[in-house]
Amino acid sequence: MPKTAGAVGRKNADRSLGREIQRWYKAHHRKLPWRETKDPYRIWVSEVMLQQTTVPAVVPYYARWFELFPNIRALARSSLQQVLKAWEGLGYYQRARNIHRAARIICRKHGCSVPDEYEDLIALPGVGPYIAAAVLSIAYGKSYPVLDANVRRVGMRLYGILGKVNYRTDDILLERIRGLFPARNGGDFNQALMELGALVCRSHNPSCLLCPVRGFCRAYKRGEQEVIPAPRKRSYHRIETVIGIITDGRRYLVQKRPPDGLLADLWEFPGGKREKGETLREALHRELKEELDVEVGEAKLLLRVRHAYTRFQVSLFAFECELESVPKLTSPVHRWVSLRALKRLPFPSGSAKVVRFLEDRSSRKEQHRSTGS
Ligand code: SF4
Repeated sequence: MPKTAGAVGRKNADRSLGREIQRWYKAHHRKLPWRETKDPYRIWVSEVMLQQTTVPAVVPYYARWFELFPNIRALARSSLQQVLKAWEGLGYYQRARNIHRAARIICRKHGCSVPDEYEDLIALPGVGPYIAAAVLSIAYGKSYPVLDANVRRVGMRLYGILGKVNYRTDDILLERIRGLFPARNGGDFNQALMELGALVCRSHNPSCLLCPVRGFCRAYKRGEQEVIPAPRKRSYHRIETVIGIITDGRRYLVQKRPPDGLLADLWEFPGGKREKGETLREALHRELKEELDVEVGEAKLLLRVRHAYTRFQVSLFAFECELESVPKLTSPVHRWVSLRALKRLPFPSGSAKVVRFLEDRSSRKEQHRSTGS
């Protein structure tokens, strides 16, 4: 059947649009460490790290990761605690647990090489359509378009798709983006769209006047850049937690979180959430009674740390505690550890800041001692 003039026109427009995006990317993309390689292992790890985390935050973690786990075999042989420690501060720790599990599966089933087939990749823990498409296109040069928040935003604006992001808009976008895809270098094209969203077509104040595809953009023509995509309301729960810094003079008391659920397998100081109507000190007394069956004597507020994870905004109050009695620890989740050992355990971000505070305090004391001041 002969092609209609409309279909031919759209194909030509898609080709020009695709070319403009690629030209812009070549000239303007940021030099980032994971763009210097096609190693599937490095691409996979970088894409997992970049989910939910900003580029500047990922850069140092990326470098350290490959010093610790230079290849998949080394990662598979490491303990979960080592992997969680390397991830400490990046948040969404399930990602680290999944990478570790996936590495072991890759070594068992795929000879320690990241699979190059969609079905094999998607079967790995933590690998969804986005990660699979990113690895296949960037590392293996296959034609799989990716959809992340940046690509969705650029695409919805370009095509003037109103409303919120959902499965329907994803299907429309995937079809349109496939039409733009070049015959070769699909990975670069995916990265170009993501980069355009990160640097130019930002969610707020997009730089339309500098945009290489302004002439193709329906949202720009209609002045709808700021309302596409329709913003999602994000609600955060604010919580306050209290923790007890308990020491026997040489060691600190810490406990390991259960292997399932939020912040699984990470370490923490004893304590918990302040209940409604409680003062911070009352919450501390109750929590330590419940967790360790001890009464708190003196409790001095050491520091307050603010941090956010998933849907929570947390204020954490760390108290240095003197106890009325020595806790009888019967559960293996509790452990007395030296400051040096404390530094090696993986903690959630808030508690990791408390550990750094304890380290700094100890080095300051050491310095005073050595200078005799
Ligand atoms: Fe985004 Fe503006 Fe470019 Fe359209 S013209 S793609 S809204 S930056």
